[in-house]
Formats: sequence, structure tokens, C-alpha cells
Amino acid sequence: MMGPSHALSGAAVWLAGSWALDHFAGYGQSPLAIGVGTAVCAGGALLPDLDLSGRVTRNQGGATVARTFGVVSLFVAEVIEKMSLGVYMATKLSHDPHRENGHRTLTHTLPFAALVGWGTTALCAHFGKWAVVVIVFLMAGLALRGLFDKWAERAGWLIVTIVAGVIAFFTGVNLPGDRGYPMLGLAVGVGCFVHLLGDIITKAGVPILWPIPLGRRTWRMVGIPNGIAVKVGGPGEVVVLRTLFTIVALLAVFGLFFPTVLQSIDIDLLRG
Ligand SMILES: [Zn+2]
Repeated sequence: MMGPSHALSGAAVWLAGSWALDHFAGYGQSPLAIGVGTAVCAGGALLPDLDLSGRVTRNQGGATVARTFGVVSLFVAEVIEKMSLGVYMATKLSHDPHRENGHRTLTHTLPFAALVGWGTTALCAHFGKWAVVVIVFLMAGLALRGLFDKWAERAGWLIVTIVAGVIAFFTGVNLPGDRGYPMLGLAVGVGCFVHLLGDIITKAGVPILWPIPLGRRTWRMVGIPNGIAVKVGGPGEVVVLRTLFTIVALLAVFGLFFPTVLQSIDIDLLRG
């Protein structure tokens, strides 16, 4: 899937999950916590595609997310792609094909999703609010790029960076400082996982089984059959899926913030 769909799916899943936690488990979150979690999950859902590098020296190419913070993120993408390729070559078995590029390898695996989720949690536990502010800054930048792609394209990376900075600053000022923020790591990890699901339903698939060896391959690309696979950038993705994600997100927002509105229009599905 393309960036905007990934970001939208991350936001929708986080909002729906927050609603379900609130509704079924009585786990309520402040509006700020829900907003931060949604932005971080939307950003996390773009993180795996930071392995799509361009030509840094010429400031060309790269996935839209790789351009979020200008040449800096393009360079990071280059490093991530080369590292992923290194891990691929080091762990490939005899039936895995040779590769020249690390896209859709290491960052598109379950261990990667678990690692960034755990890493974020560890950073927040250790450095507290400062880690939260930095992570929110980075993830909000990615989320802005994904969710408001047309605007971000017009505004350019500098404006996107400034807006992400404002969001991070606002979060830092308003967030209570006495916690471990475990939900932040969860949001990043869930975001990455949602990205994998989004790529699984496209033709190319993702190496979701890595590092389990099967038939002399550790990097088997797993996807749904070509006949029903979603065409990247096609109407199935751009119209059907994005509309679906938007509806889920909006229903969750109503359920979280205006539950009485939902009750009055009597949606049986949401009454539990
Ligand atoms: Zn991807």
C-alpha cells in the first residue's frame, strides 16, 4: 500500500483499539493520550517503508516518508536500506534469491515490529518525558506526511518539521511527567504490525515468517493470492480501503468522545 493508506490504517486501528479498551475493559485515556497514540501509531505504520532509499547525494527518490525531514531522513533511509540488505544477505538460505536492495526485508518482519515497540518502551521508561517528546516529534512528522500527503508535498519538509515540532512541544507541555508511557511503545509496534498487514494484501507480500526457515528459505514473501491481491495505488486501495479506514476512525472518535451521539442514532453494532 502507499503511504497515506498505511498512515490512515494505523490511525484507524489505534482509535478503534482505544475505543474497544474504553468500552469493554473500562480503560479510559485522556483526549491528549488518545491523540498522541493515534499520531504515533499512524507514524509507526509508515516506519517500515523507511527502507526505501533514494539518491541522497542528488536529493532524489525515496519513499514519501523518507522525505519527511528532508535530506536527513533520506540519509537515514539509505542507512536502513543498506543495513536491511546486510541482514538479508547474512541470514538468507540457498533458495532465497540474491538482492541488490533491502526494501521489504528486515523492516517488514515481526521481530522488527517487536524490537521498535520494545525499544520505544525502554527509551520512555529510561528517559521519561524527554524520550516521549522526541518520539512524538519523529512519529508526528511521519504521520503528517502520510495523512496529509498533498499538503505535506506543497508545504515541503521544513514546514512539516516545524509542525511536528509544535505538536511535540504541545505534548511535552501538557503531558503528566510521572509515568512510564508504555502505550507509546505499543503504538509504534502496533503501527509497524498494521503496516505488515497492509503489505500482505498486496501482490508483493512481506517476509512475515522470518527468521523461520522453510524450504531452504528464511525470506519467503508471504502475501494473499494474486487474484484477490490489492493493486498498489489502485481503486481498491485508494477508494475502498481508505474510505473503510476513515469510517472506522470516525466511528471510533464518536464512540470515544461523543458516545451519546452514537447511542441516539442507535447503531446496534457498537452497543456491545
Ligand atoms: Zn512496506
